[in-house]
Amino acid sequence: MKAKVRKFVSRLSTPVLRRAASSYVAGPEIDDALRVALRIQRMGFTATIGFWNGDHDSPRLVADAYLQSLAAMPGRNLDNLCIKLPALQYSYELLEEVLCVAKRLNVRVHFDSLGLETVDRTLSVLDRALLTYTNLGITFPASWKRSLKDIDWAIERKLPIRIVKGQWPDSSSVNSDQDFASAIRRLAGRVARVNVATHNAELARQSLECLHAAGTRGNMDLLYGLPVRRSLVVAKHFAAPVRFYIPFGHAWLPYCFSQARKNPRILLWMLKDSLFSNGIASMGAKEMLSSPK
Ligand SMILES: Cc1cc2nc3c(=O)[nH]c(=O)nc-3n(C[C@H](O)[C@H](O)[C@H](O)COP(=O)(O)OP(=O)(O)OC[C@H]3O[C@@H](n4cnc5c(N)ncnc54)[C@H](O)[C@@H]3O)c2cc1C
Repeated sequence: MKAKVRKFVSRLSTPVLRRAASSYVAGPEIDDALRVALRIQRMGFTATIGFWNGDHDSPRLVADAYLQSLAAMPGRNLDNLCIKLPALQYSYELLEEVLCVAKRLNVRVHFDSLGLETVDRTLSVLDRALLTYTNLGITFPASWKRSLKDIDWAIERKLPIRIVKGQWPDSSSVNSDQDFASAIRRLAGRVARVNVATHNAELARQSLECLHAAGTRGNMDLLYGLPVRRSLVVAKHFAAPVRFYIPFGHAWLPYCFSQARKNPRILLWMLKDSLFSNGIASMGAKEMLSSPK
């Protein structure tokens, strides 16, 4: 029976995940991301681009996509590149290539968060990377028990921090909104600025309020493809700078594929997400960006 379920999940997962992921990306090529970035900038927001690799992309190909992204940045008001270290297979050599170019261009390299099992290696590579280049940032998922300690780790290193709910919750996560609020409280008053990355407008409001009360500035980070209208109202209220994360690439949520095969609950989440996001995305950033100002 178990084998049958696994086979069913396996057959279903490819199209479902591809469809789910496709609603988040600007398009397959860097030019797609640059086009969206320009539109976003014209509306007064800043943009971050990030290549979302395919499941079978080699680390070399991924590094080249990061280098291509960096090469496209000068003269375009882009100063931030999101990367996924596991997609480089944690190769320090490849990362160093990226860091050297980023350093020359003074672009921040921001480490996205993936599964729980990736964190220790990511943090140790990041520690080494800091010896080469200090303009680095990191995302922490609020839903992991370990994240509060990881936040302390990043504060010690003065790394800019983005807080997200996290797409891969660990077993300790009970209430993602409460976890998010705890992570924000951990940062409030201890750092100059926090990147609040949630599309839940009420949660964003509470987070910005908490940060503001403690004298910490809050930025609002939004993901291209998710609903944004209510979030933008909140950002305006707090005069919080808004940055859009614009993924491009092969429309894969990295590592989700293999995880979904192992754990059908993730697949259900993605299925819900896929059905949901195709409707919602059209009412979110995409519609907002295509409608006249
Ligand atoms: C800038 C940015 C960077 C991120 N980087 C990472 C990362 O590095 N690692 C990581 O694990 N996660 C990352 N995420 C994703 C994050 O972990 C959450 O999965 C995602 O943001 C949904 O949670 P939420 O708090 O924004 O929204 P929720 O509170 O879950 O929902 C808020 C609103 O958005 C709608 N909504 C939520 N999710 C979707 C969806 N997928 N499609 C359509 N509508 C939706 C809901 O209907 C609701 O109206 C990032 C998110 C952002 C905004």
